[in-house]
Amino acid sequence: MTSPLLDELNAEQRAAAEAVRGPVCILAGAGSGKTRTITYRIAHQVGEGVAAPDEVLAVTFTDRAARELRARLHGLGLERPVRAATFHAAAWAQLRYFWDRAFPDRPRPEVLASKLSLLVPVAKRLRVEGRDLAAEIEWAKARRLTPATYAEGLAGRVPPLPAAQMAEVYAGYEREKVERGLVDYDDMITLTTTMLGQDPAIAEEVRERYRVFTVDEFQDVNPAQHALLEAWLGERDDLCVVGDDDQTIYSFTGASARFLLSFAERHPGARTVTLTENYRSTAQVLRLASSVLAPGRAGPPKRLRATVADGPEPVLAACEDDDDELARLVAGIRRLLAEGVPAGEIAVAYRINSQSEPVEAALSAAEIPYAVRGDEGFFARPEIRQALALLREAAGAPPRRDGPPPPEGTTPAAPRQADREVERVLREGLSWHPRREPSGGVARDRWRNLGALLDAAAREVRAEPATTLADLVAIFERRAADGQATADPDGAVTLLTLHKAKGLEFDAVFLLAVEEGLLPISHAKDDDEAIAEERRLLYVGVTRARRHLQLSWAAARPSRSGRMTNRRRSRFLDGLVDDAPARGRKRGGRGGASRGASPRLPGAANGAPPRDEALADALRDWRRERATRDGVPAYVVFPDRTLDELSRHRPTSAAELAAIPGLGPTRLERYGAELLEVLAG
Ligand code: ATP
Ligand code: MG
Repeated sequence: MTSPLLDELNAEQRAAAEAVRGPVCILAGAGSGKTRTITYRIAHQVGEGVAAPDEVLAVTFTDRAARELRARLHGLGLERPVRAATFHAAAWAQLRYFWDRAFPDRPRPEVLASKLSLLVPVAKRLRVEGRDLAAEIEWAKARRLTPATYAEGLAGRVPPLPAAQMAEVYAGYEREKVERGLVDYDDMITLTTTMLGQDPAIAEEVRERYRVFTVDEFQDVNPAQHALLEAWLGERDDLCVVGDDDQTIYSFTGASARFLLSFAERHPGARTVTLTENYRSTAQVLRLASSVLAPGRAGPPKRLRATVADGPEPVLAACEDDDDELARLVAGIRRLLAEGVPAGEIAVAYRINSQSEPVEAALSAAEIPYAVRGDEGFFARPEIRQALALLREAAGAPPRRDGPPPPEGTTPAAPRQADREVERVLREGLSWHPRREPSGGVARDRWRNLGALLDAAAREVRAEPATTLADLVAIFERRAADGQATADPDGAVTLLTLHKAKGLEFDAVFLLAVEEGLLPISHAKDDDEAIAEERRLLYVGVTRARRHLQLSWAAARPSRSGRMTNRRRSRFLDGLVDDAPARGRKRGGRGGASRGASPRLPGAANGAPPRDEALADALRDWRRERATRDGVPAYVVFPDRTLDELSRHRPTSAAELAAIPGLGPTRLERYGAELLEVLAG
């Protein structure tokens, strides 16, 4: 059978799309057109009359992927929308619809947004972190372990409490949830599965409604989701799954590629399709991707042939420190924007959520619009909003430097206290402690975000030692407002974690901090499985790039205590970068300077002209005066890095000014004329 629609697929993809009935498994590498193929396959299924659009259930991993699939199908001319949703969304809709019939003695449930509200009291009593208990319960539920089977399901895992006690906490949590008429996110999946298993009439209705199923990113399905999928299918086998075992990155949620890899065994007669042509990335990007992956694979890597034109070699950038890394990021983004790459086609990816803060600060200062994928940005995160409220309160007390003048002969109160005050507020108000990193996922994110706030405060104080707590609050509030202002994600650089990057593609990708401790992350320790997953994360990151790719790492970075500590490039780049400690062969690196683990020396930027200290002083004076005049913190006029660049390059015209990092159109318009006067002496 031929359909002009399928002409837009290659022969392998087409074979998969034409198999409109029965079990189909597409197992193929990144960028080979898996998602594209299922889109066309669904359109073809509808076209062939196998199912009506609303009888198709396509399961994706994020709401965004679901939206995109619907949009793409619409683009293929499907008049009615198919149902494309996450496991959670599809399950929750069914659960609500059938609730009264399935659970007649339970009131219609409300969603329990966070397990913490139920767990905090018991956690306090037992002196453990509530968030660790929540994480443990999520771990159990993803694996379909009940309080009764929890202890035996642990299999060597060390729980936050002795197993029997943890099982009791779990049971108590479940009881209280039912009593209060609540369901949590995990229940959406498990209760729906239970409902379908227990009530044949409901199961039949649901199966009547959905006839054909497709699951994207099947390598990241966990046992609870898999059981739900089987319940949806019943005895039928109209299921198409697509995935790439090399992109399994959600093992911590119980996901396992074994469902993908054993699909043919569990579904006799399944048609297995492999795709070998890559339509996304240049050969240069693909070469790096397979070198990253190769050492971690048991078998030979999947074959992937580039079909797009050659592109530039990926840049492997060894940076002196975190500031240097950000400067290179900003320079790289500016270069691409100048070449005409749209901002929406540029992504900056990192390992953990809290890494977004310094990137947001740097892009903000450079006036490059950005959007943080998955949330509204660092300053919108709940713990940061909470911290800001406390800081605002603390800053309400009269700032030190407005106090009475110090008596003759004494030095004024040391100004370098603002970041210390932030730390005090975090410790006292939010029980944050610099050395007590929680082990649970959410708790750890929260801890790290608060740590990043402290880092941001320390950075401001380093740049301007006279910064007060009130200044910090003003700076942070402005950044929060800036974050909200970038509403149009298409016109903005995307910031995202590697986990959120799954399935997406961009013309240009910057991967930050490819370092031991972050990639692989420190808590992977020496666990082979965990390290292999970290390696796959890097592979996912690399394979998001169509054409431009930059991986960077820093030889030094401030630690939690604010001291610079030496860092090591990720083991995943072993063999890809020359290891000579002082004079590394740098591909695409700036200048020829050595990039050892040298300590941060202010003013030792590589290859930059020397700094004119008198000019730097003059600029600082002017900045302070202008900031006072405008009633804003000095930072807002321009950051220290800009001051540094100005006093090195001494621009003499508006055009030269515009080339200085940190001086975007807004600042140029506001300060350009005065600045040129200061620069002219
Ligand atoms: P990932 O593993 O990262 O999810 P994928 O296998 O799902 O990747 P897609 O996102 O479907 O890959 O495709 C990658 C890119 O290649 C997309 O831009 C897609 O439109 C394009 N593409 C795929 N197949 C073809 C084809 N036959 N002709 C033209 N473009 C294609
Ligand atoms: Mg895909």
